[in-house]
Amino acid sequence: PDNKPWAQYELERIINTPEIKYKRQNATLFTLCRNSEMYSMLKTIHQVESRFNNKFGYDWVFLNDEPFDEEFITLTSNMISGRVRYGLIPREHWSYPDYIDEDKAREVRESRKWARITYGTSESYRHMCRFNSMFFYKHPIMREYEYYWRIEPDVNFHCDIMEDPFKFLKDEGIKYGFTISMRELHNTIETLWETSKKYFNSLNKDYFSKEVDNLSEFISDDNGETYNLCHYWSNFEIASLSIYNNEIYEGYVNYLDKAGGFFYERWGDAPIHSIIFSLMLRKDEIHLFKDISYQHTVGTICPLDDKIRMKAKCTCNSITDNWVMNSKDSCNIKFHDVGGAEKDPFYQAYLQ
Ligand code: GDP
Ligand code: MN
Repeated sequence: PDNKPWAQYELERIINTPEIKYKRQNATLFTLCRNSEMYSMLKTIHQVESRFNNKFGYDWVFLNDEPFDEEFITLTSNMISGRVRYGLIPREHWSYPDYIDEDKAREVRESRKWARITYGTSESYRHMCRFNSMFFYKHPIMREYEYYWRIEPDVNFHCDIMEDPFKFLKDEGIKYGFTISMRELHNTIETLWETSKKYFNSLNKDYFSKEVDNLSEFISDDNGETYNLCHYWSNFEIASLSIYNNEIYEGYVNYLDKAGGFFYERWGDAPIHSIIFSLMLRKDEIHLFKDISYQHTVGTICPLDDKIRMKAKCTCNSITDNWVMNSKDSCNIKFHDVGGAEKDPFYQAYLQ
């Protein structure tokens, strides 16, 4: 095993389960979580399996910065219809690079300002955001797939998912799908936009030009002068891994990493994904999944069409469980306004 470059990942465990006869895409469900989140994870798995995966049998990849314990492996794999794989994150992907001053990073976490900001004092949260920005797609297990669906513990799916979203992405040429978008807390990303702009200026293309077909207007209201804080909420993502494995994306996150904001501020992977994909991808390559009812903490989305809610056996209320339509912090309406999604009759009627 010593001649394997990825020897430290040998901790992969694969559990095989009976085959479901469905022609799957080369895709996987993907979860980063801790052993301590097992029961929250089981609740999520139960919903994803009964609402979706028991008909399709997709793989499920679990990654962790510590080895998963036997109980976690036994109970989660027991509930999953597809092949289940458990991988360990290599130390280099969950630690400080040499250009980061760890004392400065600790002072930041201990400073009074950060005590008031969500996860501001957490060291592991910063490694998690950096991992989801820079490394999850480089894990050798993830490298085997073309698409992934990110799923977290403690989230809810309120309707059956009747179509295979991976097939939908493939057929429609979509690269990035989301359900909820919102405004980021400015105090976690104070220098992210200035730093990003320096990177964009080094590229020989003006991504804010009117000529470019992208969603730059989703993230900036003034042609790139400032960031309006809108981002696709990355705890739900169904996307192609090809959008990460390329020079523009990797150049961007490496540039950001050198600037230090993962540790000296608390940059999230959601604004990072959102900024670069809104510029890099065409408008029609980013998709809002209106009919996947999803909930993560305060954020909720529920289909507006009564017929769909019936057919999909939804347990959400389309009026009260639609944070994305009701909250001023949501950016889903902006996404429609800038032409990211069609303003269908149900959407128009809701806003009347
Ligand atoms: P929030 O959604 O921003 O409130 O952050 P979460 O606490 O839900 O974390 C985001 C995702 O990363 C979830 O899937 C967590 O299970 C996972 N996560 C967060 N911190 C850690 C960590 O220290 N280790 C591991 N293995 N997973 C983590
Ligand atoms: Mn979460």
